[in-house]
Amino acid sequence: MSEKTMETDALVIGAGIAGLQTALDLADQGFQVTLVEREASIGGKMIALSKVFPTLDCASCITTPKMAAVAHHEGITLLTYCDVTSVTKKGEGRFAVRITQRPRYVAEDKCIGCRLCEYTCRVMVPHEFEGNLGVRKAVYVPFSTAIPQIAVMDPQNCMLCGRCQKACPTGAIDYFQQPKEILIKAHTVVLATGYQLTPLNAKPQYGGGQLPNVIHALQMERLLAPHGPYGRVLRPSDGKVPDSIGFVQCAGSRDKSLGVPYCSRVCCMYAIKQAMLLSGALPLVDITIYYMDIRAFGKGYEQFFQNAQAMGIEFVKAKVARITEDQDHNPIVRIERMEEDGRVEERMHDLLVLSLGMIPGCRPEAFAPVDVAEDGFVQCPNPKIHPAWTREKGVFVAGTAAGPKDIVDTIVEAGSAAMEAANYLNSLKTKDVAGIEEGSMAAQG
Ligand SMILES: Cc1cc2nc3c(=O)[nH]c(=O)nc-3n(C[C@H](O)[C@H](O)[C@H](O)COP(=O)(O)OP(=O)(O)OC[C@H]3O[C@@H](n4cnc5c(N)ncnc54)[C@H](O)[C@@H]3O)c2cc1C
Repeated sequence: MSEKTMETDALVIGAGIAGLQTALDLADQGFQVTLVEREASIGGKMIALSKVFPTLDCASCITTPKMAAVAHHEGITLLTYCDVTSVTKKGEGRFAVRITQRPRYVAEDKCIGCRLCEYTCRVMVPHEFEGNLGVRKAVYVPFSTAIPQIAVMDPQNCMLCGRCQKACPTGAIDYFQQPKEILIKAHTVVLATGYQLTPLNAKPQYGGGQLPNVIHALQMERLLAPHGPYGRVLRPSDGKVPDSIGFVQCAGSRDKSLGVPYCSRVCCMYAIKQAMLLSGALPLVDITIYYMDIRAFGKGYEQFFQNAQAMGIEFVKAKVARITEDQDHNPIVRIERMEEDGRVEERMHDLLVLSLGMIPGCRPEAFAPVDVAEDGFVQCPNPKIHPAWTREKGVFVAGTAAGPKDIVDTIVEAGSAAMEAANYLNSLKTKDVAGIEEGSMAAQG
């Protein structure tokens, strides 16, 4: 396998909204930035959201311009479909980062994103971007606003029929493409590796992921998105328009049995947001949110909660003990009401949404010189004064890689990480090593 070597000022790992903002803030200051993403497109979770609280702006309308700005910035090099295998500090301001770029089986320099390969492919498999609710082909552009607009082939499901190869006008299909090894020499590294949700099947008492009309909140985001899998809100088992929708809060957070004792901070707000959007999309729908406490922590969030109550969304303070279904796949929740002497009730809905918890997007401690806290997120030794620092001087963290947070806080932290990284880079430029050793940066070690 051939190895390519590149040099950069700053390497940013993860191209969700945190990584995009960090890369832009650094590149706008004149630094050369390399942005590395695991998936075939940049954008992270935010590009898959419908609208965002508390303003209810279209998520894609905010994220797509940032993605395009990154792609067109002359100071940013974008590497997608890459696994970071190691980040090693070789000295002050010298990091060796090893990356493996997985084969797309589509030549990046030839693909023009016309999707003719995709249209001709006959294989259909669940589409991960749509929360597995829609389908995709075995060769496909990840989603309509993906950046880069380059197809990717899924070798697990490809039948090697050759139809895509015949359809491709530029000869981009390459069944024999190999992984590429890349060594990047960087002066600073920012981790923006984000979050993932706790697994849908983690709680057997909630159906263990086997009940078709019990979905998770990112799936609901896709159902609500204008270009979602069905184009409207339908329940997965039979395509029925739901008349009654329930939300189960803390379905993956504040639960020691799952190893997630902490609050994921955004679930109350995204459930309220989704409930409000559903009230707009389906004016006759009944919506119930089963919650333990409502944590509307940010600016304007309490008002958002009150607006939802005024819209007629029912908030029931209850613990959900069990979720089952009837013969028509209608989910049934067994609840213990917390405000009525623990009265136990069973209620049926057409569709149930689990507000799952946020857990780290990857294990950065496995490849980078950082510590993680008990919750698995990157540890910041000095979170009040320097929330972007890690234990290693020159390695910074941004966004949900450091812990659950909303987009507002993610953007603020990304700006902070970019500023800290820029200060570090400037201190190297002036070769003020004594200053680095004795100044505020030294406290990181
Ligand atoms: C259902 C739901 C709805 C939400 N709605 C809202 C809302 O309305 N308003 C709001 O403010 N917040 C909302 N949030 C929270 C919001 O999604 C996050 O605050 C934000 O997306 C965090 O961005 P991020 O860049 O930190 O993480 P991510 O979006 O997770 O991005 C991380 C990126 O890093 C990549 N990555 C991970 N590991 C590696 C690796 N080892 N190498 C290379 N790349 C890697 C990932 O592929 C991903 O692209 C919602 C969350 C959920 C679950």
